[in-house]
Amino acid sequence: MIHEEKDKRIQQFFLINRYPSEAMVAQIVDALSAGSAAITFESLRAAVPDIPVRKLQVALKMLDDAKLIKRKGSAITLLADADIQARAAEAVRQYELRAERDREILGAMVAYARSGQCRWRMLLDYFDDSPTWEHCDHCDSCELAKEAEALAEQMEQHAVIQTEADTPAPTAPAFRPGDRVGVRRYGAGLVEAVTRERVDIRFPDGSLRRFLPNYVRRLQHQRTTPPEKQAA
Ligand SMILES: [Zn+2]
Repeated sequence: MIHEEKDKRIQQFFLINRYPSEAMVAQIVDALSAGSAAITFESLRAAVPDIPVRKLQVALKMLDDAKLIKRKGSAITLLADADIQARAAEAVRQYELRAERDREILGAMVAYARSGQCRWRMLLDYFDDSPTWEHCDHCDSCELAKEAEALAEQMEQHAVIQTEADTPAPTAPAFRPGDRVGVRRYGAGLVEAVTRERVDIRFPDGSLRRFLPNYVRRLQHQRTTPPEKQAA
């Protein structure tokens, strides 16, 4: 039952599509070839208002990587090419393949973390020298399993809050190393590292723990907090 929430979260993660479609890229290429000179990002954005800005940025990165555009400062120039649309479409397909591979790797990681098979145990079993213990607690698999458990526990707690509020997950606040933050049960600590999915927090006792951004709240810096607004 713990895993259900986790599955939902992971599925959501897989569903986030960062890549623009072939049709979007074709539209962008059209907009770029409409003018004879270079175009600024802002004018391009205005020319394709239906395309989310993030996807427009990714599309430009794709076109840039495929050497189909040239960027100088804020000016974007489409490089003349008879097969421009075909080459742009090919660039999109390459990105999709890459995204597919990313998802596969991530899926394999999750499956692996869940299997929780201790490497040492597997090795000793293989040599018919089965120990009395199931987990060594030190190999990468045991570490991953512990991490998966900790994340599952956090998600379960979070699920309760979610149900009460009945709102979609808020976008994770951006934390930076050195930020003073607080988490339930563990109290205050300092952010040591941040990725899209995790915040590593160092606590005063020296321990380092990993949290999902949604469970971390920012604490005021040493400044005194402003007085509460008086109720009118
Ligand atoms: Zn182990």
